[in-house]
Amino acid sequence: MAVGIFRFRGFYEESVWEILKTLDLEDKIFNYDTVVIKPNFGSLHLGYPAAIQESIATDPKLVTALVKILKDNGVGRVIVAESGMYGVKVDRVYEAFGLTKSIPEIGGEIYNMDTGEFEKVEIGGVEVNLSKVFSDCDFIINVPSMKTHILCTVSLGAKNIAVGSIDFESKAKIHREGIHRLIALLAQKLNPGLTIIDGIVSHEFLGPTWGLPRKTNLLIAGDNVISTDSVAATIMTINPREVEHLRIASEQGFGEIDIGKIEIRGEKLENAIVSDFKHCCKIEEAGEYYSQAMGIDGKMEICGTDYCSGCLNATVGIVWVVTNYTEGETEPFTLVMGTDGEVPKSARGRVYIVGNCQARNREKGVFLPGCPPSGQDFYKIFLDQCLSEEARRKAIEGQERRKASKERRLPPMKHTLKYY
Ligand code: SF4
Repeated sequence: MAVGIFRFRGFYEESVWEILKTLDLEDKIFNYDTVVIKPNFGSLHLGYPAAIQESIATDPKLVTALVKILKDNGVGRVIVAESGMYGVKVDRVYEAFGLTKSIPEIGGEIYNMDTGEFEKVEIGGVEVNLSKVFSDCDFIINVPSMKTHILCTVSLGAKNIAVGSIDFESKAKIHREGIHRLIALLAQKLNPGLTIIDGIVSHEFLGPTWGLPRKTNLLIAGDNVISTDSVAATIMTINPREVEHLRIASEQGFGEIDIGKIEIRGEKLENAIVSDFKHCCKIEEAGEYYSQAMGIDGKMEICGTDYCSGCLNATVGIVWVVTNYTEGETEPFTLVMGTDGEVPKSARGRVYIVGNCQARNREKGVFLPGCPPSGQDFYKIFLDQCLSEEARRKAIEGQERRKASKERRLPPMKHTLKYY
């Protein structure tokens, strides 16, 4: 079990060669018939400011370099495969990155798991739908980006391969059934033969998608996803033992989280550690920071600590789009989410009870049923109940402009988050 740390010097193909040579993989990897590359593109809303986009998604140039090297050296099929989180259409991300055209030009294929086939598999007593793209491949290369994560502490290789390879229904299900345990088990089942963590531009503080970019110029790669994640977490000054899914996987004998027991190649670990890397805030504080990022400070309260990105994107994601058009104008409101959210005694403004996890509180506010609820429904309700006539007009005009545009892309979104 070796993990390599590499300083990125601006040359993608050189970096991939350095990784393959340092990990003694170059002879082995080119003999495979079918290789699937799993990047992290699925959490990228295209309205994010460009600098933040770079830190949320895997660098598409790194993925392209991998495809090119594999194809040039005889691998039969090389498939770049991704699924989207709630509200993200992977085909649009492929298109925006230019991969729809460039990957086939160099002999590779792109694949949207969300529109492909799934097969039912049982993981730790829970049935999930796993993309069939993995059932016929010989080797998986997992290429996540280096990010903090509000629920899972880090979003690295295990999170990317586990949550990014199942359908949307299963993503919500694993949140309900014990996300840390199921990430550990799914990562073990898929067991990517190579994980390359893209830490060229990392994402710190309010990850996995609301934080800030940090140029770290590193690539961390290894043949065991848990050991590779543990080295990356250490570079982010996070103790791997405090990352629940890494601890659970290592206790099951899959991967090493004791840094002293991992063979490290390439750059020295102590030289790579980013000593002032900003960890994520506590989930209880997230509402305040999301509000700050959207420029609606003090107007939104979130109650609950175990909600998932589906409920978050169907509500907070919509508020972000709307208040971008209204220049921050909105009435105060409270979102109650997850299994543990409770309506506070003195709630801020109107109360929304979000998602089926909150069905028990349905009488205590405006209930948004669904797992996750419909973002479209919330959009209409929010416009009706939280905006002045003038602000509503601005929001409707903004959306109409977007729909009329060729790409139907969101305009660059406001993002005014500051560090704590
Ligand atoms: S209702 Fe929301 S928080 Fe609950 S599982 Fe579904 S998406 Fe996740």
